This record gives sequence, C-alpha cells and structure tokens, in this order.
Amino acid sequence: MSVTKNETAVLKNFINGEWVSSVSSQTLDVPNPATNEVLTKVPVSSKEDVNRAVAAAKIAFKSWKQVPVPKRARIFYKYHHLLTENHEELARLIVLENGKAYNEAYGEVQRGIECVEFACGAPTLMMGESLSNIAEDIDSEMFRYPLGVVGGITPFNFPMMVPLWMFPLAIACGNTFVLKPSERTPILANRLAELFTQAGAPKGVLNVVHGAHEVVNGLLEHEDIAAISFVGSQPVAKYVYEQAAAAGKRVQALSGAKNHHIVMPDANMDKAVQHIISSTFGSAGQRCMACSAVVVVGDNEPFVQALKKKADELIIGSGMDEEVLLTPVIRKEHREKVLSYIEKGLAEGAELIRDGRDEMDDHPQGNFLGATIFDHVAPDMTIAKEEIFAPVLSLLRAEDLDEGLEYIRKSRYGNGATIYTNNAKAIRKFREEADAGMLGINVGVPATMAFFPFSGWKDSFYGDLHVNGKDGVNFYTRKKMITSRFDA
Ligand code: NAD
Repeated sequence: MSVTKNETAVLKNFINGEWVSSVSSQTLDVPNPATNEVLTKVPVSSKEDVNRAVAAAKIAFKSWKQVPVPKRARIFYKYHHLLTENHEELARLIVLENGKAYNEAYGEVQRGIECVEFACGAPTLMMGESLSNIAEDIDSEMFRYPLGVVGGITPFNFPMMVPLWMFPLAIACGNTFVLKPSERTPILANRLAELFTQAGAPKGVLNVVHGAHEVVNGLLEHEDIAAISFVGSQPVAKYVYEQAAAAGKRVQALSGAKNHHIVMPDANMDKAVQHIISSTFGSAGQRCMACSAVVVVGDNEPFVQALKKKADELIIGSGMDEEVLLTPVIRKEHREKVLSYIEKGLAEGAELIRDGRDEMDDHPQGNFLGATIFDHVAPDMTIAKEEIFAPVLSLLRAEDLDEGLEYIRKSRYGNGATIYTNNAKAIRKFREEADAGMLGINVGVPATMAFFPFSGWKDSFYGDLHVNGKDGVNFYTRKKMITSRFDA
C-alpha cells in the first residue's frame, strides 16, 4: 500500500469492497509527528459518504448473518495469519503516523492480533443456554443473534489495537461494520481493511469512512446503525453516549483517564521507578492507562530523586530509533495545550522539579517535549484533576494508604490505578477500595487482554457493557428466548 510520504495523495474510503474517493473535496494533512513531514492527506468525508457505507453494510448484513458461525470464524483465522505475517510492517506504519516507539508499536500490533484470536472463538463465544424441564414438559433455550450494522469511532493513540477491539468481534458475531478511524492516524485503518479483504471478508462487511465530526454525527443519527462503539476523550465520549442513546442505539463509550500510582514505603523502589517511568513517559504519555499521578506515601525523598534521575536519562527522538523511549506528542497544537497545563501547574503553586520544555528545541521539527515532573501537587490543582495526555507527571504526597485511596476516590476518572508494595494487607485494601476498573499490583500498565473486559469506571466509561471479553460478546449480540411445550 503506497501511503507513505506522498503528500498529494488523498486516502480513499473503503465502501462495499471498493476503494472510493470521498464525495467531499475537503482534506486534512497527516503529518509524521516526529518530523511534521506530510505523509498523505485524509478526506473529511460527508454524511453522504456515511450513508453509502451504511447502505452497503445493511445489504451485506442480510447474507453475512446467515453465514455459519464456524465459517465466519475461519476468516478470522486467515486474518490472524495475515496480520502476523505483516507484524513488522504494521508496527512501522504505527510509528510513522502516531510517533510512538517501534517496540511499543510492535506490542500494539500484538495486542490487536490477540483480539482477532479472541474473535476466532466465535462458535464458543456465541453459544446460548438451555434448561430442560422448566415446567412439566416445557424447556427453555436462549440463542444469540447479531444486531445489524455497528458503527465504530476510534482515537489516534492506538490506531491498530482500538479498531481491533471492535470490528473483529462485532463481525464474528454476525454484524457488519462501519469504521471511522481517527483523522490524525488514518493510514493503518486502510491497511487493516485491505488485509481483512485478503482474508476473505465479503464486500460490505467492513467499511471505512475517514473524516471528523460530520462522519461521527452521520453515524450517530443514522437510523440503520444499531450500535456504536466509541473510544476517545471524555467530552466526546459523553456526547457520543448521549446522542447515540437518545437515538435508541446500543452504545459503549470509553473515555479519558487520570491514573494514580501509589508508592508505599516498603515497595521495591528500583522496580517502582522503572515501571512508573515507562508507564508515564512511554508513548509520550498518550495512553489511557498511562500513569499520570504518583502518590508518594510517607517521606520518601530517595524515591523522588531516583525517579527524577531516571527521567534525566531518557533519550528523546524518533520512534524508529531503538534507544528512544520518549517520542513526540501527536500534533503541535496538542503540545501547545500541554504547555498551557505546565503554566497552570506553576501558577497554582506546584513545584516543577523537571522541566521538559528545556528539551523541546533539541528536535525542532517534531512535536517533542521532555519528561516533565511536578512535585507537591495538591489534589485540587488543575494538573492533578485533568487528563493532560503527555509526558507530564504529578507527584502528590500522602501520609498513608487511606489518603492515597481518597485521592483516587475523588478523581472523576476511574480507568486504572496501581500500588507498589509487598504488603499483603495493603494490597488487599487497595484491591477492595481503589475506585477504578483496572488495578495493578506492582504493574505499570494494568491493561487487560482481549478475553477480559476493558473495564473503566466513573467518567472513564459511559455505557453498560465494556469492550472485549464476554461483555464484548453481549454488546454485539441480542438474545432470543424460546420456550417449548412438548405435551402435544
Ligand atoms: P478524541 O476524542 O479527540 O477523538 C476520538 C474520535 O472522536 C476521533 O475519531 C475523532 O474524529 C472524533 N471526534 C473528536 N472530536 C469530536 C467531536 N467534537 N464530535 C464528534 N466526533 C469527534 O480523542 P483522541 O485525542 O483521538 O484520543 C485520546 C483520548 O482517547 C484520550 O482522552 C484517551 O484517554 C482516550 N482513550 C481512552 C481509552 C479507554 O480505553 N478508555 C483508550 C484509548 C484512548
């Protein structure tokens, strides 16, 4: 696929098995975050493009739902094989358009492949339930059926994994799909669709419509869209949830985060520092499971100094360079917003113990920002409360575990939280009382694998059924109950 470094090319939409130009002539540049060289252009598609894609998916649904479940699953075995065969190329594409380090991108491809592995289990996953003899001569059975056409809207930070949280399971369950990838990382989506077609997916089963708000609104308003899977920032997640629910659609909307890591005095400090550094600064802090607030319990200056020293040693640069951990943020405008958070932190009285702005000029072409650490951050400061989504860390001080848990409880977000300790009592208390959906015990990024739900709480999630795992199967299917009498 020739999508790289061709700044005059405009990406095509994928509708009904064909690569087609958007009816809109408006486009956006897709720059490489490490250099700001334009890689290609993405169309800002219109509602007309959405209508065409939904119409194709609606027609495809009629026959796709009739395809025997094991036969559907076989396409995903083939897809799994093709993704694995192209693992390195896919990782390079992620580095190019998203900017993250190659090893992180390689890991992301692996996480995506695992979602396809999960979807291969469709015949088992879609099994219903039955009970004979619920009354005299009467049995009851439950069967699962697909919903119809599902719309998926995805963010820039995981251009492979997040689309693969959605369409493989939705399609394996018998639905057809319209994907709206992030306009900031649209390239990989086309490659995913290309390989899916190569795996044998019939036309119209997966469609890709590029663009921004208008495409999202087109999906939310469309009467033939039965369900919406969304992943992105909190205000948009809430908007999507409310609009889709009001239109009578099933909806799951995964949202922003502010993940606290509590460092207890007994923790293995070397390991805690290592995990916190890679969780906070890996992918330039642009992960919904990134550590963004550390709660230092007790008077632990050696830990703070060790953390700062490790941050000083981080190498900044392009994601293709093996030594690099700290890569660019997605866009210059995003960095501007992050800089305003740093100013706000200073204005509200936090102590800036490492100023990443000093390293910005070392790589003037890209959107780089050095590791930035604030100490003595109070829980009511803006930088403690809001998601910054960048390599900026807040250190909060607490007297004991209870105070640390209180910080987590007060946060509007509840995606993840971690504790570093070897104390069984503290671990249990943390597990029982931490107010978040994905907890880590001495784990820096406690993201779940495809067979478990990705389980954010509070404003990190809107809806009932999460992506992946049994929740995912329940989200993408509806049940039919059959009650039979046999006394005739
Ligand atoms: P974003 O909200 O800017 O964009 C997400 C999607 O929504 C994109 O496809 C975009 O085109 C669309 N969109 C953006 N603004 C819109 C609007 N006003 N109306 C309609 N559609 C709109 O998010 P992003 O910056 O691409 O991604 C980063 C965010 O995603 C972070 O907040 C991060 O925490 C979150 N995220 C959450 C999870 C999770 O599992 N909870 C996973 C990954 C990312």
